[in-house]
Amino acid sequence: MTKDAPRIAAKNIHAYYHKTHALKDVSLDIPHHEITALIGPSGCGKSTFLRCINRMNDVIPHFHMTGDVLLDGQNIYEDDVDVVQLRAKVGMVFQKANPFPKTIFDNVAYGPRLHGLFDHKSELEEIVQTSLQRAGLWDEVKDRLHIPGTSLSGGQQQRLCIARTIAVQPEVVLMDEPCSALDPIATSKIEELIKELQKDYTIVIVTHSMSQAQRISQRTAFFHMGVIEEVGTTKQIFNAPKNERTKGYISGSWG
Ligand code: ADP
Repeated sequence: MTKDAPRIAAKNIHAYYHKTHALKDVSLDIPHHEITALIGPSGCGKSTFLRCINRMNDVIPHFHMTGDVLLDGQNIYEDDVDVVQLRAKVGMVFQKANPFPKTIFDNVAYGPRLHGLFDHKSELEEIVQTSLQRAGLWDEVKDRLHIPGTSLSGGQQQRLCIARTIAVQPEVVLMDEPCSALDPIATSKIEELIKELQKDYTIVIVTHSMSQAQRISQRTAFFHMGVIEEVGTTKQIFNAPKNERTKGYISGSWG
Protein backbone atom coordinates (compact mmCIF):
# COMPACT_ATOMS: atom_id res chain seq x y z
CA MET A 1 0.00 0.00 0.00
CA THR A 2 1.39 3.41 -0.96
CA LYS A 3 1.81 6.12 1.63
CA ASP A 4 -0.91 8.19 0.01
CA ALA A 5 -3.47 5.39 -0.20
CA PRO A 6 -6.69 6.47 1.51
CA ARG A 7 -7.56 5.01 4.88
CA ILE A 8 -11.05 4.30 3.56
CA ALA A 9 -12.08 3.88 -0.05
CA ALA A 10 -15.80 3.51 -0.75
CA LYS A 11 -16.44 2.30 -4.26
CA ASN A 12 -19.70 2.43 -6.19
CA ILE A 13 -22.02 2.05 -3.23
CA HIS A 14 -25.70 1.54 -3.93
CA ALA A 15 -27.84 1.24 -0.80
CA TYR A 16 -31.51 0.36 -0.50
CA TYR A 17 -34.09 0.23 2.28
CA HIS A 18 -36.66 -2.07 0.71
CA LYS A 19 -37.40 -0.07 -2.48
CA THR A 20 -35.93 3.27 -1.37
CA HIS A 21 -32.68 3.75 -3.29
CA ALA A 22 -30.81 5.75 -0.62
CA LEU A 23 -27.29 5.81 -2.13
CA LYS A 24 -26.69 5.82 -5.87
CA ASP A 25 -23.20 4.89 -7.00
CA VAL A 26 -21.38 6.72 -4.23
CA SER A 27 -17.58 6.58 -4.25
CA LEU A 28 -15.41 8.47 -1.79
CA ASP A 29 -11.81 8.30 -0.61
CA ILE A 30 -11.19 9.28 3.00
CA PRO A 31 -7.58 10.25 3.72
CA HIS A 32 -5.64 9.39 6.88
CA HIS A 33 -5.72 11.82 9.79
CA GLU A 34 -8.12 14.23 8.23
CA ILE A 35 -11.58 15.30 9.26
CA THR A 36 -14.01 14.70 6.42
CA ALA A 37 -17.41 16.38 6.74
CA LEU A 38 -20.52 15.00 5.04
CA ILE A 39 -23.07 17.73 4.39
CA GLY A 40 -26.35 18.01 2.51
CA PRO A 41 -30.09 18.33 3.08
CA SER A 42 -31.97 15.96 5.34
CA GLY A 43 -32.66 12.55 3.79
CA CYS A 44 -29.87 12.78 1.18
CA GLY A 45 -28.07 9.67 2.48
CA LYS A 46 -25.31 11.02 4.74
CA SER A 47 -26.06 8.76 7.71
CA THR A 48 -26.64 5.76 5.48
CA PHE A 49 -23.23 6.29 3.94
CA LEU A 50 -21.59 6.74 7.36
CA ARG A 51 -23.14 3.48 8.58
CA CYS A 52 -21.85 1.66 5.48
CA ILE A 53 -18.31 2.35 6.73
CA ASN A 54 -18.66 0.11 9.78
CA ARG A 55 -21.51 -2.14 8.65
CA MET A 56 -24.01 -0.64 11.06
CA ASN A 57 -26.66 -0.96 8.36
CA ASP A 58 -26.34 -4.76 8.52
CA VAL A 59 -28.79 -4.82 11.42
CA ILE A 60 -31.48 -2.76 9.66
CA PRO A 61 -34.30 -4.93 8.23
CA HIS A 62 -34.84 -4.66 4.46
CA PHE A 63 -31.48 -2.96 3.97
CA HIS A 64 -29.16 -4.14 1.26
CA MET A 65 -26.26 -2.67 -0.63
CA THR A 66 -23.76 -3.32 -3.39
CA GLY A 67 -20.26 -1.93 -3.82
CA ASP A 68 -17.10 -2.13 -1.75
CA VAL A 69 -15.69 -0.37 1.26
CA LEU A 70 -11.95 -0.84 1.70
CA LEU A 71 -10.32 -0.12 5.04
CA ASP A 72 -6.56 0.07 4.51
CA GLY A 73 -7.11 -1.86 1.29
CA GLN A 74 -9.21 -4.64 2.85
CA ASN A 75 -12.83 -5.11 1.89
CA ILE A 76 -14.92 -4.86 5.08
CA TYR A 77 -17.80 -6.71 3.36
CA GLU A 78 -15.87 -9.95 2.87
CA ASP A 79 -17.69 -12.90 4.47
CA ASP A 80 -14.88 -13.63 6.93
CA VAL A 81 -14.75 -10.12 8.44
CA ASP A 82 -15.45 -10.11 12.18
CA VAL A 83 -17.95 -7.28 12.54
CA VAL A 84 -17.27 -6.80 16.27
CA GLN A 85 -13.56 -6.29 15.53
CA LEU A 86 -14.41 -4.04 12.61
CA ARG A 87 -16.56 -1.78 14.83
CA ALA A 88 -13.68 -1.53 17.29
CA LYS A 89 -11.42 -0.36 14.46
CA VAL A 90 -14.09 1.92 13.08
CA GLY A 91 -15.88 3.37 16.09
CA MET A 92 -19.03 5.44 16.05
CA VAL A 93 -20.46 8.33 18.04
CA PHE A 94 -24.16 9.01 17.62
CA GLN A 95 -26.38 12.07 17.49
CA LYS A 96 -27.78 11.47 20.93
CA ALA A 97 -25.27 10.47 23.59
CA ASN A 98 -26.02 6.84 24.46
CA PRO A 99 -24.03 5.82 27.53
CA PHE A 100 -24.77 2.31 28.77
CA PRO A 101 -26.75 2.09 32.03
CA LYS A 102 -23.47 1.48 33.86
CA THR A 103 -20.97 3.53 35.81
CA ILE A 104 -18.65 6.00 34.09
CA PHE A 105 -15.78 3.57 34.65
CA ASP A 106 -17.67 0.60 33.24
CA ASN A 107 -18.79 2.56 30.17
CA VAL A 108 -15.18 3.22 29.22
CA ALA A 109 -14.00 -0.24 30.34
CA TYR A 110 -16.68 -2.01 28.28
CA GLY A 111 -14.73 -2.26 24.99
CA PRO A 112 -11.33 -3.12 26.53
CA ARG A 113 -13.08 -5.92 28.50
CA LEU A 114 -14.93 -7.20 25.43
CA HIS A 115 -11.74 -7.27 23.38
CA GLY A 116 -9.43 -8.45 26.19
CA LEU A 117 -7.10 -5.46 25.84
CA PHE A 118 -5.43 -5.77 29.26
CA ASP A 119 -3.93 -8.34 31.61
CA HIS A 120 -4.17 -6.60 34.96
CA LYS A 121 -6.75 -4.39 36.60
CA SER A 122 -4.17 -1.60 36.85
CA GLU A 123 -3.81 -1.62 33.06
CA LEU A 124 -7.57 -1.31 32.66
CA GLU A 125 -7.57 1.61 35.10
CA GLU A 126 -4.89 3.25 33.03
CA ILE A 127 -6.85 2.77 29.79
CA VAL A 128 -9.94 4.28 31.43
CA GLN A 129 -7.99 7.25 32.76
CA THR A 130 -6.17 7.94 29.48
CA SER A 131 -9.37 7.65 27.44
CA LEU A 132 -11.22 10.05 29.75
CA GLN A 133 -8.27 12.44 29.65
CA ARG A 134 -8.15 12.40 25.87
CA ALA A 135 -11.90 12.97 25.77
CA GLY A 136 -11.40 16.03 27.99
CA LEU A 137 -13.58 14.60 30.76
CA TRP A 138 -11.15 13.25 33.35
CA ASP A 139 -10.90 16.34 35.56
CA GLU A 140 -14.68 16.58 35.77
CA VAL A 141 -15.27 12.94 36.73
CA LYS A 142 -12.11 11.55 38.32
CA ASP A 143 -13.63 11.63 41.83
CA ARG A 144 -16.89 9.97 40.81
CA LEU A 145 -16.05 7.22 38.37
CA HIS A 146 -18.61 4.95 40.01
CA ILE A 147 -21.71 7.04 39.43
CA PRO A 148 -23.94 6.17 36.45
CA GLY A 149 -22.80 7.63 33.11
CA THR A 150 -26.39 8.70 32.52
CA SER A 151 -26.21 11.14 35.46
CA LEU A 152 -23.80 13.42 33.59
CA SER A 153 -24.88 16.46 31.53
CA GLY A 154 -25.59 16.01 27.82
CA GLY A 155 -22.20 17.38 26.74
CA GLN A 156 -20.38 15.26 29.35
CA GLN A 157 -22.30 12.16 28.22
CA GLN A 158 -21.20 12.80 24.64
CA ARG A 159 -17.55 13.11 25.78
CA LEU A 160 -18.04 9.88 27.77
CA CYS A 161 -19.24 8.17 24.57
CA ILE A 162 -16.14 9.50 22.78
CA ALA A 163 -13.95 8.14 25.61
CA ARG A 164 -15.72 4.77 25.28
CA THR A 165 -15.06 4.77 21.54
CA ILE A 166 -11.36 5.62 21.80
CA ALA A 167 -10.73 3.18 24.68
CA VAL A 168 -10.40 0.36 22.13
CA GLN A 169 -7.85 2.30 20.05
CA PRO A 170 -9.84 2.63 16.84
CA GLU A 171 -8.33 3.80 13.57
CA VAL A 172 -11.38 5.66 12.38
CA VAL A 173 -14.07 7.50 14.33
CA LEU A 174 -17.43 8.09 12.65
CA MET A 175 -19.62 10.82 14.11
CA ASP A 176 -23.27 11.27 13.20
CA GLU A 177 -24.24 14.84 14.10
CA PRO A 178 -22.56 14.51 17.50
CA CYS A 179 -23.45 18.06 18.60
CA SER A 180 -27.02 18.35 17.40
CA ALA A 181 -28.47 17.80 20.89
CA LEU A 182 -25.96 20.10 22.64
CA ASP A 183 -25.89 23.77 23.61
CA PRO A 184 -23.25 26.10 22.08
CA ILE A 185 -20.75 25.74 24.96
CA ALA A 186 -20.91 21.94 24.98
CA THR A 187 -20.73 22.01 21.16
CA SER A 188 -17.57 24.09 21.17
CA LYS A 189 -15.93 21.70 23.68
CA ILE A 190 -16.75 18.73 21.43
CA GLU A 191 -15.44 20.57 18.37
CA GLU A 192 -12.14 21.29 20.15
CA LEU A 193 -11.97 17.65 21.14
CA ILE A 194 -12.62 16.44 17.58
CA LYS A 195 -9.79 18.65 16.27
CA GLU A 196 -7.50 17.24 18.96
CA LEU A 197 -8.46 13.63 18.11
CA GLN A 198 -7.55 14.18 14.48
CA LYS A 199 -3.87 13.76 15.42
CA ASP A 200 -4.49 10.10 16.19
CA TYR A 201 -7.56 9.14 14.21
CA THR A 202 -9.23 9.55 10.86
CA ILE A 203 -12.58 11.22 11.45
CA VAL A 204 -15.74 11.32 9.35
CA ILE A 205 -18.50 13.57 10.62
CA VAL A 206 -22.06 14.11 9.41
CA THR A 207 -23.15 17.62 10.23
CA HIS A 208 -26.12 19.78 9.33
CA SER A 209 -24.10 22.81 10.45
CA MET A 210 -22.16 24.35 7.61
CA SER A 211 -20.28 26.59 10.02
CA GLN A 212 -19.22 23.49 11.96
CA ALA A 213 -18.00 21.80 8.77
CA GLN A 214 -15.93 24.91 8.03
CA ARG A 215 -14.55 25.18 11.56
CA ILE A 216 -13.34 21.63 11.92
CA SER A 217 -12.97 19.75 8.62
CA GLN A 218 -10.32 19.68 5.92
CA ARG A 219 -12.47 17.92 3.32
CA THR A 220 -16.16 18.15 2.60
CA ALA A 221 -18.47 15.95 0.56
CA PHE A 222 -21.82 17.41 -0.47
CA PHE A 223 -24.59 14.82 -0.75
CA HIS A 224 -27.85 15.38 -2.57
CA MET A 225 -30.60 12.81 -3.20
CA GLY A 226 -28.32 9.85 -2.66
CA VAL A 227 -25.36 11.02 -4.75
CA ILE A 228 -22.20 12.93 -3.94
CA GLU A 229 -22.56 16.07 -6.04
CA GLU A 230 -19.17 17.48 -5.12
CA VAL A 231 -16.19 16.67 -2.93
CA GLY A 232 -13.10 18.76 -2.30
CA THR A 233 -11.18 20.63 0.32
CA THR A 234 -13.52 22.38 2.74
CA LYS A 235 -12.06 25.74 1.61
CA GLN A 236 -12.81 24.99 -2.03
CA ILE A 237 -16.32 23.68 -1.38
CA PHE A 238 -17.31 26.73 0.67
CA ASN A 239 -15.36 29.43 -1.20
CA ALA A 240 -15.44 28.23 -4.78
CA PRO A 241 -18.00 25.45 -5.29
CA LYS A 242 -18.03 24.17 -8.84
CA ASN A 243 -21.45 22.57 -8.79
CA GLU A 244 -24.57 24.76 -8.99
CA ARG A 245 -26.40 22.65 -6.40
CA THR A 246 -23.51 22.92 -3.95
CA LYS A 247 -23.47 26.66 -4.53
CA GLY A 248 -27.19 26.92 -3.83
CA TYR A 249 -27.01 24.76 -0.72
CA ILE A 250 -24.09 26.49 0.95
CA SER A 251 -25.46 29.92 0.16
CA GLY A 252 -28.63 28.87 1.98
CA SER A 253 -30.96 29.36 -0.98
CA TRP A 254 -32.43 25.91 -0.34
CA GLY A 255 -32.03 22.88 1.93
P1 ADP B 1 -29.49 11.90 5.99
O1 ADP B 1 -28.54 11.33 6.99
O2 ADP B 1 -28.83 12.68 4.91
O3 ADP B 1 -30.61 12.70 6.63
P2 ADP B 1 -30.40 9.15 5.64
O4 ADP B 1 -29.22 8.38 5.27
O5 ADP B 1 -30.87 9.09 7.06
O6 ADP B 1 -30.20 10.70 5.21
O7 ADP B 1 -31.64 8.74 4.73
C1 ADP B 1 -31.52 8.50 3.32
C2 ADP B 1 -32.84 7.90 2.82
O8 ADP B 1 -33.00 6.60 3.36
C3 ADP B 1 -34.07 8.69 3.22
O9 ADP B 1 -35.01 8.58 2.17
C4 ADP B 1 -34.56 7.95 4.44
O10 ADP B 1 -35.95 8.11 4.61
C5 ADP B 1 -34.19 6.52 4.14
N1 ADP B 1 -33.89 5.76 5.39
C6 ADP B 1 -32.92 6.03 6.28
N2 ADP B 1 -32.92 5.14 7.30
C7 ADP B 1 -33.93 4.26 7.03
C8 ADP B 1 -34.45 3.09 7.69
N3 ADP B 1 -33.93 2.65 8.84
N4 ADP B 1 -35.51 2.47 7.11
C9 ADP B 1 -36.04 2.91 5.95
N5 ADP B 1 -35.59 3.99 5.27
C10 ADP B 1 -34.56 4.68 5.81
